[in-house]
Amino acid sequence: MQYTGACQCGAGTFSIDECTPDHSWPTSRPLWYEPHINCTACANQFEIEQRSGDFVLVEKTRLEEQEQKRHAARTALEAAEGHASVIEVKKIAAGLLDNAGSVSAAHRLATQHNLDDSTIGTFRRHWRGGEVFMRGLRLSALKSAFTWVGVDSKDFDQLIEEYRRLDEDATRPPQAFAAPFHRLKRNRF
Ligand SMILES: [Zn+2]
Repeated sequence: MQYTGACQCGAGTFSIDECTPDHSWPTSRPLWYEPHINCTACANQFEIEQRSGDFVLVEKTRLEEQEQKRHAARTALEAAEGHASVIEVKKIAAGLLDNAGSVSAAHRLATQHNLDDSTIGTFRRHWRGGEVFMRGLRLSALKSAFTWVGVDSKDFDQLIEEYRRLDEDATRPPQAFAAPFHRLKRNRF
């Protein structure tokens, strides 16, 4: 047991177990901590999070809010990826790649226009035609595809901007309820 102390409301306890693997071979995780809330009222209201060496309470309502934010970010990304202009760009670019004449010509095109930075060997191994290639494109490469085929990217840019804003908001850890109730010694995490 690493720690035990009164819970937030005082009716029960918070405890932290120090855990080690149940085998003796080396592991990347030789030691970890499992916090417990031994109080019904506090367990309904909080979760314990370890943030580097600090153990903090986070209200469940905040965690639910964060889940909603993540959902909003995913929805925004889907809206961006499914936008009519994106479908148009993918279709045109896929056609250009398919008509390049050979896989190495397609690779040259994709590289020239910043859609791909893999070697010809990797490109060739993964090549399943233009449509599949365009389907798997990263966002930054997709942006380059707009420039390449000359489709107006204003709506797409706006949707991506919106997604980035939501995603940033969703990945920020929720505010802790109060100061850490326990702090590990410097060399234990
Ligand atoms: Zn309590």
